[in-house]
Amino acid sequence: MTRTRPLIGKVIIDGNILCKTGLHIGGSESALAIGGVDSAVIRDPLTGRPYIPGSSLKGKLRSLLERALEKDFNRNGGSGIRRHECNDPSCPVCRLFGASVDAQDVNGCNLPSRLIVRDAFLNDESAAELEEIEGNLPYTEEKTENGLDRVTCAANPRQIERVPAGAGFDFQIIYSVEDRDQAAEDLDHLEALLRLLEDDALGGGGSRGNGRVTFTVKQALYRHRKHYLQGEEARRLELEGHSLGEALQPHLKG
Ligand SMILES: [Zn+2]
Repeated sequence: MTRTRPLIGKVIIDGNILCKTGLHIGGSESALAIGGVDSAVIRDPLTGRPYIPGSSLKGKLRSLLERALEKDFNRNGGSGIRRHECNDPSCPVCRLFGASVDAQDVNGCNLPSRLIVRDAFLNDESAAELEEIEGNLPYTEEKTENGLDRVTCAANPRQIERVPAGAGFDFQIIYSVEDRDQAAEDLDHLEALLRLLEDDALGGGGSRGNGRVTFTVKQALYRHRKHYLQGEEARRLELEGHSLGEALQPHLKG
């Protein structure tokens, strides 16, 4: 079976992620940690600033939608994590986040993701504030977490590196409109997931208080394909009093 994959337009959503508690998104364990912490955060190699990888944010949003819609955890996501993936083009999870059920895609039924989640970088204001803080680690703080060894019950203190509460990151999420009938529902799911993540946790140590974040959508633009092909102006979605899906709705005709 082959399918066409129309590209009708793009919705570009820009906003801010504010850390309400310390945030820990781990870097590679093999990377040399600055300051001898046990668990370091991931950093942009060019600026040395911590950032939120788009893949981390997207993965978290996907798992929340899988659970909120009670999808089957039919796949092994590695590290013992079960996840959902199917090739049903009407599946709200897989059409939004993608599915590659068949590695070779011989049947042409894999679902490419409609979402692009960019890496979210520390904003300049937060970077300037964090540069003022004297400490062992640039832009971050150290937190000692007193884990208990579950077998021996011995205390096992670990040094966890976190981005401090109050830090802000700029995020950008891009949604490809491929199906006019599904677009508004997809965007409303995305918006619901941002709200759901505010009551969940991003990154590591959520049950120990890390990773409480809030999302503020600053603007959403709709660029119909005519924008790219014929120079049509981008349209700003009216978010005041409307969900993202409702705000897109009037632009989907034609
Ligand atoms: Zn699915």
